Amino acid sequence: MANILKAIKDKDPGEKEFHQAVQEVIDSVQPILDRNPEYRQAAILERITEPERVIMFRVPWVDDQGQAHLNRGYRVQMNSALGPYKGGLRFHPSVSLSIFKSLAFEQTFKNALTSLPLGGGKGGSDFQPRGKSDAEVMRFCQSFMSELFRYIGPDIDVPAGDVGVGAREIGYLFGQYKRLCKEFSGVLTGKGINWGGSLVRREATGYGVGYFLAEVLSQHGQSIEGKTIAISGYGNVGTYVVEKINELGGKVVTIADEYGYVCDPDGIKGEKLECMADLWCVYRKSAEDYATQFGCEWIKDKRPWEVPCDVAIPTAMENELDLNAAKTLVSNGCMAVVEAANMPCTHDAVQYFHEHGVLFVPGKAANAGGVAVSGLEMTQNSMRLSWTREEVDKRLKMIMGNIHRTCLEAAEMVGAPGNYVVGANVAGFLKVADAMLQQGLV
Ligand code: GLU
Repeated sequence: MANILKAIKDKDPGEKEFHQAVQEVIDSVQPILDRNPEYRQAAILERITEPERVIMFRVPWVDDQGQAHLNRGYRVQMNSALGPYKGGLRFHPSVSLSIFKSLAFEQTFKNALTSLPLGGGKGGSDFQPRGKSDAEVMRFCQSFMSELFRYIGPDIDVPAGDVGVGAREIGYLFGQYKRLCKEFSGVLTGKGINWGGSLVRREATGYGVGYFLAEVLSQHGQSIEGKTIAISGYGNVGTYVVEKINELGGKVVTIADEYGYVCDPDGIKGEKLECMADLWCVYRKSAEDYATQFGCEWIKDKRPWEVPCDVAIPTAMENELDLNAAKTLVSNGCMAVVEAANMPCTHDAVQYFHEHGVLFVPGKAANAGGVAVSGLEMTQNSMRLSWTREEVDKRLKMIMGNIHRTCLEAAEMVGAPGNYVVGANVAGFLKVADAMLQQGLV
């Protein structure tokens, strides 16, 4: 196994994020590979860590002053053993091929956990939508899709949103795809409700995290009722985490952005939650605005993990919660950490949580609700009909419950009871690896 990781590192030495993602999965699935020589015989680990295809392209666009700019576009089509490639597009200056490969690798297992027919992919650009006008964002999206359209399709690869790509961007991307392909199809998910989108897609990641947390706590004879919770984002995911936690009787006391965090000891409720929902998604303002409006403390240049809480839910970016933050959370009595973002906790932070008896749920299990409802959006598009809110929400809740059970069963099977990281990796790996075995050497 060490040989495979070494080969990956030798091949692409600069891809630290990808190495970290692969290392974690290899550590978890080692017992499975030891017991089942057919996976080695068929070079499953070598193939599962190599993208089926990587597309990189030039994205030129013009700003409102007539100045031309250049960004780079990416799509990593990681694995199609279970269905068309599926995963979000991220627009953020921090992205790189390594980050997209690690996210696409994660996505492959996350999508497998949903039990829906979805392969894994991820993509986006180093474009920063923050501070750009709608017209600039539209021109960028049109240029981006003018290249990407060649490689995607409702039965080939179905992108969605991610950091920096919300309803506005999906709209512009869809419009350009439709124009180029002369086809109105389910090529993207997260579409507007009146043009092929699904009810509850917008809320799905946040609600799914709430459902998963309820399952985890109930497994330990507890509930969300009365729990104090810290989160780190204030976008789409964070907003609906708060809504679901409120509904289940918990209290969320922080929101944050890259410049600092707000502490609201009374909890984000009522008109305050409405304000939070619009802050970024509508007005694209900083989280500090919430503090100003409601007279709360704004703690500049700090992360919210220093606020005492029972549960921490990182909802922003990779590696936003490090070992120091983990130590502070543990010393403040935090009992559970649930990743609503993709890989927000560093490897040593996760290790520290495990060593100190903190219940830890990785993003590939906890935040699978978003892509699960994307899968349901694809189903509705194929049937050319729309389910009610209740129907989609019921299915989402059931899927999250199933993922929870599957993770615990898989963890138990390899002798790591209660370990959600191992459980998610093993269960996701087995689904993809078995499909790959059955489909031959491709
Ligand atoms: N970007 C989300 C994720 O990380 C959603 C992907 C999708 O709906 O395809 O899972």
